[in-house]
Amino acid sequence: MNDAETTTDGNDAFAAEDVDPADAFAALGNSTRVEILQAFREHHLANPAASAVAFSTLRKAVGIRDSGQFRYHLEQLRGTFVEKCDDGYRLTYAGSKVINAIIAGTYTGRTRLGPVAFDSSCSRCGTAAHASYRDGVLEVTCENDHPLFYWSVPPNAAVGTSLEELVELATTLAVQSYELVADGICSECYSPVEPTIRTVDSEDAGGSVRFSARCRACAATWDAPVGFVLLGHPQVESLYHRQGRPIGGQYWWELEVVDRTEIAVLETDPLRVRLSVTIGDTAVRATVDESARVADLDCSAGTDGSGDN
Ligand SMILES: [Zn+2]
Ligand SMILES: [Zn+2]
Repeated sequence: MNDAETTTDGNDAFAAEDVDPADAFAALGNSTRVEILQAFREHHLANPAASAVAFSTLRKAVGIRDSGQFRYHLEQLRGTFVEKCDDGYRLTYAGSKVINAIIAGTYTGRTRLGPVAFDSSCSRCGTAAHASYRDGVLEVTCENDHPLFYWSVPPNAAVGTSLEELVELATTLAVQSYELVADGICSECYSPVEPTIRTVDSEDAGGSVRFSARCRACAATWDAPVGFVLLGHPQVESLYHRQGRPIGGQYWWELEVVDRTEIAVLETDPLRVRLSVTIGDTAVRATVDESARVADLDCSAGTDGSGDN
């Protein structure tokens, strides 16, 4: 697997060839090597200032007496997860990511919570909202299984927490993800994505126009009511703030922009829509283009929203 490794015992800092993912994961298929990665993290926790760990320190931490055997396992990690430097060895970016994912329980966590009823209801059928968490996915639905919210949360975040807190965390993660995607970056793999809006046949999908994006590199998908595009707009954010209801502190499925936005199609090719929604005492109108950008937006305070469209 070590085609990309440097040929001498020198530093690895300039070995910059891409590594085959299958080779990289094969290197982790051994409990001693996973323990080596964990030994790095434990050493850094105990010695925050240390940037490198000596060979002998690592070997003792893992508990292998035979230094030849230990060196063999360390070499399997080198190049991808571990690199050699002046004072010993250190984790690479990939090594840190693997350790973080192990701590987060991404590979091993099986936490389950709920279902638990919320003090909130479905706007379509009025039944109570229920949240549950299974195998890394938080899901909020109503008694009739209308989907209200759905997001991935690493299992470690679900340990010793309530579903209410987990919904808050998932909301924060979802906001960050949608903000990146709106800016054209996949939040899962950081490849470029092109967000768009599209019409859908079924009113059942929560609106006739949806915000959507698909990453061509990792196949992650985003799909939400078109009113979502207003969530990231500074004027809408400050409007919610002024009304004492910051977006981050609310259930998404209850937000007017997600739930009660009226949509008028202005043009079909390219698609352009006019959104109208009343937030508190303020009527908001916005035009959204095919690339899911808010082309213009105006707020008129003091109206009760009647007469819009
Ligand atoms: Zn429902
Ligand atoms: Zn991606």
